[in-house]
Parts: sequence; C-alpha cells; structure tokens
Amino acid sequence: MVDPTSDIGEDADESTAQECANCGEKILQSPTHRVVTRVEDGEARHRHFCSDECRAAYGESRSESDEPTDE
Ligand SMILES: [Zn+2]
Repeated sequence: MVDPTSDIGEDADESTAQECANCGEKILQSPTHRVVTRVEDGEARHRHFCSDECRAAYGESRSESDEPTDE
C-alpha cells in the first residue's frame, strides 16, 4: 500500500512474499500462486506454491515421508 508504482495495491512485495513450499521460489503476485490450508496438531498451516505442478509434486513427495528431499 506504500508502493506508489503499484496500480493494484496488493500487499505482496519482497518482504511479504511467500516462498513455494516445494521449490523455494519467491511468489510475487503469481497468477499460478496456490495456497493450501491444512490443520496439523490443531493449528491451521498455510502452504504456498508457485504453481499447481509444485503443489502436486509436494503432496506426492510428502505422502512418502515427512523429510524434505533434495533433488
Ligand atoms: Zn514451486
């Protein structure tokens, strides 16, 4: 809201950008931005993904193990 160059006024900038939970990419007003909300241990967790592909890949890898795997 303090960005004079923004026509949209969204609150996404470098300081507030979410990182893709799968590939770690910063998500800046991406049209393919996906947010997945799930409840773990009684708390709502939000996971952000840069695309449906990353969301799917993350879900598949997580179904096997809780440990994140590096390629
Ligand atoms: Zn991603």
